[in-house]
Amino acid sequence: MSESPRFGSAGLSDSYPIKKFDPEGIAAFTADFGLTAFEYQCGRGVRLALDKAAALGEACAKRNIALSVHAPYYISMSSLEEDKRLHSIDYLLQSCELVKALGGRRVIFHSGSCGKQSREEALEKAMDTMRRAVEACDAAGYGDCILCPETMGKVNQLGTLDEVLALCSVDERITPCIDFGHLYARSQGVQFAEENAEEDYAALLDQLQVLGPWRAANFHAHFSRIAYTKGGEKCHLTFEDTQYGPPHAPLLALLKSRGLTPTIICESAGTQAEDGQILARTYAAL
Ligand SMILES: [Zn+2]
Repeated sequence: MSESPRFGSAGLSDSYPIKKFDPEGIAAFTADFGLTAFEYQCGRGVRLALDKAAALGEACAKRNIALSVHAPYYISMSSLEEDKRLHSIDYLLQSCELVKALGGRRVIFHSGSCGKQSREEALEKAMDTMRRAVEACDAAGYGDCILCPETMGKVNQLGTLDEVLALCSVDERITPCIDFGHLYARSQGVQFAEENAEEDYAALLDQLQVLGPWRAANFHAHFSRIAYTKGGEKCHLTFEDTQYGPPHAPLLALLKSRGLTPTIICESAGTQAEDGQILARTYAAL
């Protein structure tokens, strides 16, 4: 457990110059921005060979960079199609295999959407899939992996804070991925709006206490500014696009004053390492 939060990037920034897979290059680039976390992106499938993953894990370990894996986007724990729903477990297992090869523990995933069912029915299905996923992970020897369901940005997706906390109640290892930009976008910019950001952040951090002290302090997080429409999330922005929120400064101040140590992955569009560095520097200056 670290004494301060870890700040990292979701994949590589547009400014990363190397074309081929280069573990030392990725680790050095990340460390040069003062980052201590890197989320490997498997949104379109788990495709990194395990020997390459081990090499990346070693290069990052030398620089105190913790690795996590973002699982495939096509996971759907709430799908009405039984086949699709249960296949989600296989994608989580593949992600666990990869994160272990990387020397990390955290697997971040989107739980699914509501589709033609009510939110309650969708959540009920996702809870069942979650239970089966935990059993499958234990049976496969991935019991030390930390599954992290994410709060989601579109209104019709599963992934309000309450829904994510419900999924976390399935097993004490399941740790939330609080995507602050997603919550901001699904609330039409109301939650974490500039004028009420501090109290909203405080209320959310209070709500995490239901998970007990370890998870409330060491949760996973995504941070970026996000534009929205009526349906919620429209697109990720950079820290230079200040028309949309949420603002990061009040959150970082609360993490500092409360002594919380989450892992915060910056998901800015193309400048995730640069903006991650802004998060790390802002925190360090507190
Ligand atoms: Zn995500």
